[in-house]
Amino acid sequence: MSPSDQPVDAAHGSVPESDDALPPRKVPRIVILGGGTVGVYSARRLRKRLGKREAAIVVVDPRPYMTYAPFLPEAAAGSIDPRNAVAPHRRALKGIDVLYGKVSSIRHGDRRVEITPEEGDPYEISYDHLIVGLGSVARTLPIPGLAEEGIGFKNIEEAIAVRNHVLNRIDVASSIWDADLRRKMLTFVFVGGGFAGIEALAEVEDMARASAKYYDSLDVSELRFVLVEGSARILPEVSAELGGYTLDELRKRNIEIHLSTFLTSCVGGHVVLSSGVEFDAETLVWTAGVMANPVLKKSDLPLDKLGRVICLPTLQVATAEGEVIPDAWAAGDCAAVPDLFNPGQTCPPNAQHALREGNHLGDNLARILRSDAPTEYKHRNVGAVASLGMYKGVAQMFGRIKVRGFLAWVLHRTYHVFAMPTLNRKVRIMADWTSSLIFRREVVALGSLHDPRAEFRAASVRIPLPPAESLG
Ligand SMILES: Cc1cc2nc3c(=O)[nH]c(=O)nc-3n(C[C@H](O)[C@H](O)[C@H](O)COP(=O)(O)OP(=O)(O)OC[C@H]3O[C@@H](n4cnc5c(N)ncnc54)[C@H](O)[C@@H]3O)c2cc1C
Repeated sequence: MSPSDQPVDAAHGSVPESDDALPPRKVPRIVILGGGTVGVYSARRLRKRLGKREAAIVVVDPRPYMTYAPFLPEAAAGSIDPRNAVAPHRRALKGIDVLYGKVSSIRHGDRRVEITPEEGDPYEISYDHLIVGLGSVARTLPIPGLAEEGIGFKNIEEAIAVRNHVLNRIDVASSIWDADLRRKMLTFVFVGGGFAGIEALAEVEDMARASAKYYDSLDVSELRFVLVEGSARILPEVSAELGGYTLDELRKRNIEIHLSTFLTSCVGGHVVLSSGVEFDAETLVWTAGVMANPVLKKSDLPLDKLGRVICLPTLQVATAEGEVIPDAWAAGDCAAVPDLFNPGQTCPPNAQHALREGNHLGDNLARILRSDAPTEYKHRNVGAVASLGMYKGVAQMFGRIKVRGFLAWVLHRTYHVFAMPTLNRKVRIMADWTSSLIFRREVVALGSLHDPRAEFRAASVRIPLPPAESLG
């Protein structure tokens, strides 16, 4: 039986359907593309509102978990176990089918999507209602060396890799006496001064400093952390005053800041900035913005000039002229959702909106299925909170209230632990925080995780093969 001949079963799930081979569906099928913030929250809300006899829900994602990205910097810093920054679909999506694979094209006109699994041939499934929550990807530039030397900071795998790499460079450098090589190993560059970039930089630097204290042969002052930001300020999400405060904090920690500066090249780890500054670095983390998931270009859904799905405030997909595209919904980073509190603008790409939009979308679709009218999504930004390492943070609430230092750090943790889905994860994260407060955070690098077979390969090569004749 080919994948496309298999049915999606609301109870047992996980296998795709051939519409030709099946009797007509008894309940409408809702297919949710992306099992991230929008996908998980909308699916859970729909399941809460609609019984299994009212709708079958299928989530499609190549990963078996939703990543709560605001916790990535803390996961990289070792304050929480990376496993706890993700919510496994199998636990978070009870009563919902999950298909693991990448959506590779969307033909909404035919109500079909193509899914490419990690192994095997692509197949198609059909649906009655579509929710698009495909999120965003790192927005990169054609800078020489970037693809080879850089790493993003958008998912848990990258956060773990950055952590292991930074700690590993410190380990290795502590036993290297070539000054140039040592300097290169201990230079860490972060490009992009938005929330994600600043939190990642501040948390990783804090962890690196805490770790360097354990080495007799290494002085903390040898660590060189560099921020490169194209605009004249950092953290555009908060006031210029708080952005300035954050800059001062980072400078006090000897972090080198290059504003109004671009990365022009990093071939072979030789970093060249637009200001003419040049140096060598073995670590380059790219956090310079995001763009809507490019797979949307392989769809017949209406997109705006930034490649996002055009939506009405009800989260229904619509043409540029505002005409509803029936049975299609979108939200989160990949959608242009009008911000009713800021006329003419769209909601910013953040978790604060994505999870509320996900819930609202679930409510609206349930309403439509029960022949009620959908309502408009309206959320006033409550503010922004950022962690800058242990006991340090900045926050701006309701536009006016500005908080710094320890209180902002507590606010950051409190806000995000409540937003994290499932009680299980909330409790585990709080347990991680408690243990790192008592025992200090974990600073061991498990670098070999990234090539676990290396030692076995080397051992296997050493075994001499017996002469051919002795093999009989
Ligand atoms: C480091 C970092 C820190 C952040 N900190 C904050 C913060 O403090 N506060 C805040 O409000 N926001 C923060 N954000 C932003 C926030 O995480 C996002 O705006 C939010 O997750 C967007 O939700 P989404 O559902 O649109 O996308 P996501 O949650 O990214 O979900 C998209 C899903 O689509 C899946 N997917 C991708 N391609 C395919 C495909 N082809 N087929 C099927 N599935 C696919 C992905 O695997 C993923 O599960 C941060 C982001 C980062 C990277």
